[in-house]
Amino acid sequence: MRFDVVSIFPESLEGLLSIGVLGQARAAGMIDVRLHDLRDFTDDPHRIVDDRPYGGGAGMVMKVEPFVRAIESIQADVDTPSRVVFLSSQGKLFQHGDAIGWAGETGLILLCGRYEGVDERILEYVDEEVAIGDYVLAGGEVAAAVVVEAVSRLTPGVVGKFESVATDSFFEEGKLGAPQYTRPPEFRGAAVPEILLSGDHEKIEAFRKQAAWRKTIRNRPDLLGMDPSATGENHG
Ligand code: SAH
Repeated sequence: MRFDVVSIFPESLEGLLSIGVLGQARAAGMIDVRLHDLRDFTDDPHRIVDDRPYGGGAGMVMKVEPFVRAIESIQADVDTPSRVVFLSSQGKLFQHGDAIGWAGETGLILLCGRYEGVDERILEYVDEEVAIGDYVLAGGEVAAAVVVEAVSRLTPGVVGKFESVATDSFFEEGKLGAPQYTRPPEFRGAAVPEILLSGDHEKIEAFRKQAAWRKTIRNRPDLLGMDPSATGENHG
């Protein structure tokens, strides 16, 4: 699978996308991550990517032409057209289901805005406008890294044991994963649940299932179709 990220700060993503399972998958050629400088797709000597907003107002707006040229140049370089994703504070929320669906694509083109955002006419050239949460970031780079990480770890082979992906949060029945513990068995009076030390795999499985449900009800009742205000607590 190929990821093409278009940004005015492409170098900002290199470190993050070169570590851990992602770095290993890139080194092994399982995923191909390419970072593009949006300014390479300008056609003026000053490599300008922004301009003042029509109708007035504060700040600068990113021009549509460099993004469209970048998309066209990348699409010309791939055999099957990549899905074009615009990271935007005004997009639909990016969720687990999207990550699963996109992991089946041959490629994703990720467009990162900055400043006050991108000229709205970009929407004619994108398949998806997505936000990673209900807050405004300074730019789309962090959001693009979120999408690349979430999608690539669902790409077969990227995480060595698929079991570790399949028992993660959101996977089974849409609930959270079970809480995890490691040594020591007791830390400052807090003991690891005894069942986990018992070696009884059936009981451990049952305990984990129940703990996962409990945690989901406490932190994310919305995932179970429950009214979030109904549980009344969000701490501890
Ligand atoms: N004026 C916009 C905010 C622009 S923020 C508004 O009122 O909504 C600048 C850029 O940061 C955006 O173009 C987008 O690429 C990125 N960005 C900001 N928040 C984001 C979010 N929650 N998810 C994804 N990208 C985001």
